[in-house]
Amino acid sequence: MGSYRLVSAPLKLLELQALDTTIDRLGTRRNQLEGAAELADARLVLDRAEAGLGELKLALDATTREQRRLESDVDSLQRKVDAERARLYDGSVANPKELQSIEHEVQGILSRKSRIEDQLLERMEEREELEGRVPGAEAEATAARERIALLESTTARELVDVSRQLEDRVREREAAAAEIDPELLVLYGDLRRQKQGVGAAALVAGVCQGCHQQLSPVYLDRLKRDDGIWRCEHCRRILIAR
Ligand SMILES: [Zn+2]
Repeated sequence: MGSYRLVSAPLKLLELQALDTTIDRLGTRRNQLEGAAELADARLVLDRAEAGLGELKLALDATTREQRRLESDVDSLQRKVDAERARLYDGSVANPKELQSIEHEVQGILSRKSRIEDQLLERMEEREELEGRVPGAEAEATAARERIALLESTTARELVDVSRQLEDRVREREAAAAEIDPELLVLYGDLRRQKQGVGAAALVAGVCQGCHQQLSPVYLDRLKRDDGIWRCEHCRRILIAR
């Protein structure tokens, strides 16, 4: 079944496999942290929240300006009404036709004033609605800022931690690999590349822990008489009896 020999205990290869699996996982995590995808997402959320808040404040300013303008129009129309009414009652105009025309003018101004007051009411409702949305938008931006600060500090800390673990495991891997037959290491490396990073697996109660399939009794018998490298009959991974 193979002519390779394990230089020391076969379990060394399982130890190497465990280290390689850990190294793969840590490497993936380090790449994630360096790429900082989560942080990029959080920054996008903040950008959107701040843009939303900015638009809200612009709309609020515009509505407030419009409200002030309408209020000043209402004031000036009211002053006109007061002035016309004063002329009606101060005796300065005696001609009935002229009095009637002033009365008509006052009614005209009052109806214009009433329309503007309706618009003013709409603007005030609009402003109230916009003001009501500000606290929510501000809270959203604050939450996004806090999330970024948290991610920045935890990412930096985790990156240091993961990098240190990775260095330790790589050192341990070198030591473990030095005790294994170089040709067996090549086979193991080839299998790892072909089989999702797992080249060696334990054989537990006749089940390959690489593919989790049961080996046939006939195949198991042949293995027991073979003092070379054991391979799974299903996935061809290197098997180590435990
Ligand atoms: Zn298998």
